[in-house]
Amino acid sequence: NSDQLRNQLDARLKQGSLDVEEFTVDPDLAKRVSIFDGDITGLFVDAIVNAANSRLLGGGGVDGAIHRAAGPSLLEECKTLKGCPTGDAKITGGYKLPAKYVIHTVGPQDGSDMDLRSCYEKSLQLCIEHDIHSVAFPCISTGVYGFPHERASIIATTTVRKFLQDNPSIERVIFCVFQEVDVKIYQNILQKVFPVN
Ligand code: ADP
Repeated sequence: NSDQLRNQLDARLKQGSLDVEEFTVDPDLAKRVSIFDGDITGLFVDAIVNAANSRLLGGGGVDGAIHRAAGPSLLEECKTLKGCPTGDAKITGGYKLPAKYVIHTVGPQDGSDMDLRSCYEKSLQLCIEHDIHSVAFPCISTGVYGFPHERASIIATTTVRKFLQDNPSIERVIFCVFQEVDVKIYQNILQKVFPVN
């Protein structure tokens, strides 16, 4: 059950078998991140991130949900982009979504930490370039692409922390968790990476 999972995670973080360094307490930084448990397509933010595949022509999972909610104009714009390499990101309009933009990033299928980190960095860099102040991320690569959930959450949160420190214009980053396992993992990891006391 969820308490057991939480305790297991706590124990592994304490043992150091999950590689999370000690982060300094910074309540102002912590205020800029949050968890949302639900469908990313309903979020009223400047941009939502899509865990796309390299063709950028739609797919299953969160990609399918975003294309359904945005309507066919999203696919039309995606066709003009000519795909996207793993670890990179491209931006389109949000069309019928409440979000103004969709940032399409292609997560690794081979468990590459470096490529997953790059997905978060490149997506956040696009936020700076497009005057985006609020952005929501799904748990990139942890669905069909099979990236281990805990390791993905550490990469996601530590990359976001570094970026927020360096870029004050990003006001809010939402970690949109859709699977029960990720709800627990993110509740736990955010306390470690964005400690408030
Ligand atoms: P990938 O191919 O990168 O693994 P998936 O779409 O299969 O991408 O999964 C990425 C994550 O997105 C998974 O945690 C999945 O449960 C989640 N997800 C699926 N649909 C939605 C949605 N509508 N909103 C937010 N997250 C979603």
